[in-house]
Amino acid sequence: MSSQLELRSVSLGYRERTVVSALDLTLERGDIGCLLGPSGCGKTTVLRAIAGFEPLLAGEIQLAGHCVSRVGHTLPPEARRIGMVFQDYALFPHLRVGGNVGFGLHRLSDSERARRVAFWLEVVGLAGMEAAWPHELSGGQQQRVALARALAPEPELLLLDEPFSNLDPELRDSLAREVADLLRERGATALLVTHDQGEAFAMADHIGILEAGRLQQWAPPYDIYHWPANPFVAGFIGEGVMVDAHMLAQGDVQMPFGRVAAGSMPAPDDHPRPPAGPVQVLLRPDDVIHDDDSPHTARVLRKAFRGAQILYTLELDGGVQALALVPSHHDHAIGSRIGIRIAADHVVAFAAAPP
Ligand code: ADP
Ligand code: MG
Repeated sequence: MSSQLELRSVSLGYRERTVVSALDLTLERGDIGCLLGPSGCGKTTVLRAIAGFEPLLAGEIQLAGHCVSRVGHTLPPEARRIGMVFQDYALFPHLRVGGNVGFGLHRLSDSERARRVAFWLEVVGLAGMEAAWPHELSGGQQQRVALARALAPEPELLLLDEPFSNLDPELRDSLAREVADLLRERGATALLVTHDQGEAFAMADHIGILEAGRLQQWAPPYDIYHWPANPFVAGFIGEGVMVDAHMLAQGDVQMPFGRVAAGSMPAPDDHPRPPAGPVQVLLRPDDVIHDDDSPHTARVLRKAFRGAQILYTLELDGGVQALALVPSHHDHAIGSRIGIRIAADHVVAFAAAPP
């Protein structure tokens, strides 16, 4: 079985300038993928190329086993079975909701089209809204209509470019989860672009981290967080600090505050342990565990109340600063010393850059 979407060594650019280099990624049928990266890193350019709006400088794009783009050949967007949802709703203002959702269904009879429009409006939670005008709807409702319009022709692939970024933060999170559930129920294959990590974690089976047009890692959310491929991904995703340390021959790590066992959790194949020598070790707030019974202590430098948890900035022995996420009933004063333990079930270490 061929993958639903495959990009092989795709390079893209505008005039002489290359903005995306040698991009490889694969989505299986029913997968939700997410490209995450800073503004200007090339996310929209990648989606536009997949949709058929940008020619390739190199490489190939396959949709459901068929080549749709290679150098010198770009199947036009309307000949690809791709649905798109953009950040700015982009509903047709002169068409009612029903007309918007039915837009891609012009080949169907009127009655069949009306049936399909009603069906998709129900799926996105807007049953019976056919006669409303786009401007009468809230931003969230408009985005649901855009989603129904993109899904109604039953595309091979759905592309979503920052679809929730113009919505209120609370609505954004709930709609992102809802849309992910809906896509999974329907078995849709989708590629989402966002700069919001929460959205990516909430929705995606695979996350791709793009920086300056280069894919840094393509992996499930768990691996992106716990096994970042390089220091860029480690710094871009989540919170944490990089600590200068020394990898010992047995694979244990000598940290400034003590020795940490290499851990029982095997590293994934694509994450080989660096050789003995100077390394940088990633310490996440969930790697530093507060434990009143631990003989090891750290000094509280700062604290940020987050409701259920407090994010402490701690000074460990050896002058290392680290973050610790602690249930908020453990309320300790700045300057006090609290017991800590390093959760060493997995150590993420990168060979230190040569001086
Ligand atoms: P993102 O969606 O990640 O913010 P884009 O794909 O929009 O990034 O842009 C990637 C790079 O390509 C940026 O440097 C941007 O300025 C440039 N770019 C985007 N669209 C065009 C265009 N139509 N013409 C020339 N340069 C463009
Ligand atoms: Mg963009």
